Amino acid sequence: MTNIILFGPPGAGKGTQANFLKEKYNLVHISTGDVFRYNIKNETQLGNLAKSFMAKGKLVPDEITIDMLSNELDKNSGANGFIFDGFPRTEAQAEALGHLMDDKDTNIAAMVALEVDDEVLVKRLLERGKTSGRADDAEESIIRNRIKVYYNETAILKKYYQKQNKYHGVDGVGSIEEITERLSDVIDKL
Ligand code: AMP
Repeated sequence: MTNIILFGPPGAGKGTQANFLKEKYNLVHISTGDVFRYNIKNETQLGNLAKSFMAKGKLVPDEITIDMLSNELDKNSGANGFIFDGFPRTEAQAEALGHLMDDKDTNIAAMVALEVDDEVLVKRLLERGKTSGRADDAEESIIRNRIKVYYNETAILKKYYQKQNKYHGVDGVGSIEEITERLSDVIDKL
């Protein structure tokens, strides 16, 4: 199995790139944000739990998120590998992911990070908000809060994976194709 974490702040282009990479490398794409949005739309118990956190641009608590991720892995037990998009976002989630991978006799091959300037992120997310229908993209204060949460709670994971020699940063500014190529260059060498 090849398991890759696609990392980067909100608006870095993780979802867009994951859609190309999953086809190219025959991987299952798990976006925790997409799973939460699906559950909110369908008014499930999980959706109700996640809703208020997401609306404020805060992280959904670890226990809820880790349980959900574990279920998604179980649903795809025959997978060739996974692209994790939006997970892990805390050290507790990274630890849990390590254990889940151990249980499957596999590991995380790499964290590949899309590096993009904050002001570019805000512009991209405001633009995306015009068509995405996402409430958390519609308001600049919520967008800025999500970026703040990323730096306060999530960015430390760069060090976490650097210590394991698994961190690879990629310039996240350019055309979609250029960026897919930069990411592929890293993945092809794993
Ligand atoms: P995203 O689609 O990755 O931008 O995620 C949208 C929102 O879903 C985030 O702002 C969080 O509220 C929630 N979320 C997604 N993934 C996670 C995660 N791994 N941990 C906690 N909250 C998450």
